[in-house]
Amino acid sequence: MHKDIATPIRTKAILEKYGFSFKKSLGQNFLIDTNILGRIVDHAELTEESGAIEIGPGIGALTEQLAKRSKKVVAFEIDQRLLPILNETLSPYDNVKIIHQDILKADVRGVIKEQFSEIKDLMVVANLPYYVTTPIIMKLLEEHLPIRGIVVMLQKEVADRIAAVPGTKEYGSLSIAIQYYTKAETVMVVPKTVFVPQPNVDSAVIRLTKRDKPIVEVKDETFFFYVVRASFAQRRKTILNNLTSQLPDGKEKKEVILAALDSVGIDPTRRGETLSIEEFARLSDGLLGFSE
Ligand code: SAM
Repeated sequence: MHKDIATPIRTKAILEKYGFSFKKSLGQNFLIDTNILGRIVDHAELTEESGAIEIGPGIGALTEQLAKRSKKVVAFEIDQRLLPILNETLSPYDNVKIIHQDILKADVRGVIKEQFSEIKDLMVVANLPYYVTTPIIMKLLEEHLPIRGIVVMLQKEVADRIAAVPGTKEYGSLSIAIQYYTKAETVMVVPKTVFVPQPNVDSAVIRLTKRDKPIVEVKDETFFFYVVRASFAQRRKTILNNLTSQLPDGKEKKEVILAALDSVGIDPTRRGETLSIEEFARLSDGLLGFSE
């Protein structure tokens, strides 16, 4: 048996051998704790028949654990300097494919079709680069990919916002955008000490399980998200004030907005952060056609 990649000693040896220097701008904080990695993979609930997509394999710490516990792993890595390293560290595994690409520019659906044609159960599992956590998660959800879910390490503060419930200060348009598509749970809080270099912020692992259909049915999805964002434009303002200042011609059409709020039974003096996703759905349907 070879030694795991994610031990402090082996990681240091690999980095020294290749003279690798971390790029902060690429969110490079590598995991050096196999126990934590094992627990992350546990939360993905993979079987020997599952496929795994990883974003940012680094030197292969998580990739290796995924390779051991799934049928196939495809990992997207933006940093070319890591390719020869991955080539060596992952050489014991014949079920890993590394794609040298920025995940935000990648045709993930095309890759799934090509690489996972025989796999029915697919999960995204990653220790995300913290400078782009939200765009990556939103891309994966908005593209309606054929995945069961996403288990990712990210900043604890972002995890708190994603999983937040109405009436809390963390609840906002990000909570709604993600909970619309998924059931969101924070499954682990992770200390800084398990990374090299240590990040400046606390970390957490979040599990997003895709819903068969969105949590609410709305007549116009784009307008729904527009109303949500408008309602949180200034957190301290009432829903009425945010909508009148954010919707097109909102100030002139204050009476129309008031009538819409009344028709769906929402008190205009409430703040956006108190509205449930169901209430936002009713509100956006009630306001639909507002700007016409
Ligand atoms: N998975 C490794 C681990 O857990 O030790 C490394 C995780 S590190 C937090 C993030 C990784 O994402 C780095 O390898 C970085 O080069 C890569 N990365 C950063 N931006 C990326 C992007 N837009 N697309 C793909 N990979 C990216």
